[in-house]
Amino acid sequence: MKRIAILGSTGSIGRQTLEVIANHPVDFAVEVLTARSNYKLLIEQAARFLPATVVITDHSHLEKVKTALSGLPITVGGGQEALEQAVTGDRVDMVLAAMVGFAGLIPVIQAIKAGKQIALANKETLVVAGELVTRLASENKVDLLPVDSEHSAIFQCLMGEQHAEVDKIYITASGGPFRNLDIKALEKVTFHDALKHPTWNMGAKITIDSASLMNKGLEVIEARWLFNLRHEQIDVIVHPQSIVHSLVQFCDGSLKAQLGLPDMRLPILYAMSYPQRLNGLFPKFNFTDYPCLTFEAPDPVRFPNLAIALEAMRIGGNMPCIMNAANEIAVEAFLSDRLGFYGMTKIIEKTLQKATFLPVAGLSEYIESDREARSIASSFV
Ligand code: NAD
Ligand code: MG
Repeated sequence: MKRIAILGSTGSIGRQTLEVIANHPVDFAVEVLTARSNYKLLIEQAARFLPATVVITDHSHLEKVKTALSGLPITVGGGQEALEQAVTGDRVDMVLAAMVGFAGLIPVIQAIKAGKQIALANKETLVVAGELVTRLASENKVDLLPVDSEHSAIFQCLMGEQHAEVDKIYITASGGPFRNLDIKALEKVTFHDALKHPTWNMGAKITIDSASLMNKGLEVIEARWLFNLRHEQIDVIVHPQSIVHSLVQFCDGSLKAQLGLPDMRLPILYAMSYPQRLNGLFPKFNFTDYPCLTFEAPDPVRFPNLAIALEAMRIGGNMPCIMNAANEIAVEAFLSDRLGFYGMTKIIEKTLQKATFLPVAGLSEYIESDREARSIASSFV
């Protein structure tokens, strides 16, 4: 049995992880649950799954969680320090990182240093500090098991293959809710429109990133580090049905793809059960429901964020970290109606120009760059 610590258990990935665990009570147990502020759901989850430890990082809700769980054999903690302690605890076998944004970086690094297996949904961790995180993982003999569906697909396609024989990978993108809109229409879309994703039901931040294609940019950077590839080995292809989750092309021209319904419980289950496969208790793919799978090139003119992310990756150093921070601020502002769709792009571009560029960075530099870029981006909003 694997004992799992879930960072961000009240979010979209966190809730689906608990569903998977509930379906496989012999294989997995919940050791730690953490959330930022949704104390009501956190209390409900804790009462049902009885983890050893629960952490709420927003201190203002700590007493409510303590009182509600007082009769149960659960240790309740509050704040960042309690979170870091919980993920490094002796009884934890695997940390499923499903927090959103930069906030996931430090707990993931702590967990890696403590030798925990990592199931990684929090792609921002690798966008910000991919070089550092992958190096620490290899030094500590920790597997970084991808939860992101595209990366899970590539990971599965690479099983039994030689790294030197990989020619390139194709990361598929749904194209989001605005795939067919022209620039004039895109200038007027609101966050309500952006939150209506055609194929995936996800948290707010990643849903906005999907609408702007920034999510694909983040995923290219994530893939570059996870699979140790050169920039020119990664391509993005729009596939609106979200059935082919990604593909690997080998040196002989052969392509391998992984397919399935757009259901995050599948890559979550694979990351947790790896190297085994367990029975998936969710609906399975039916060919007659999908008589036609289509592919098209992404449009860099209508969706400039993808190109911005690729350029930040090419420049390297702390550029992706700056870009990620600016994007988090821009998405937050778009979600509260303080910015338009292309306003997000402008904020990111201006922040990239103004923030201090460092060709080489370590953890303290990333923390400082994130802080500086957030402050610059906020001033532009
Ligand atoms: P979400 O917003 O639904 O949930 C985020 C979770 O993180 C919540 O439990 C929240 O309490 C916690 N959290 C947020 N900020 C925190 C902080 N500062 N400190 C501590 N906890 C904090 O997000 P989500 O859609 O589940 O996505 C989580 C991560 O997984 C993101 O990095 C996203 O890009 C990635 N991802 C999500 C999906 C999906 O289908 N939702 C798919 C692929 C990858
Ligand atoms: Mg994805």
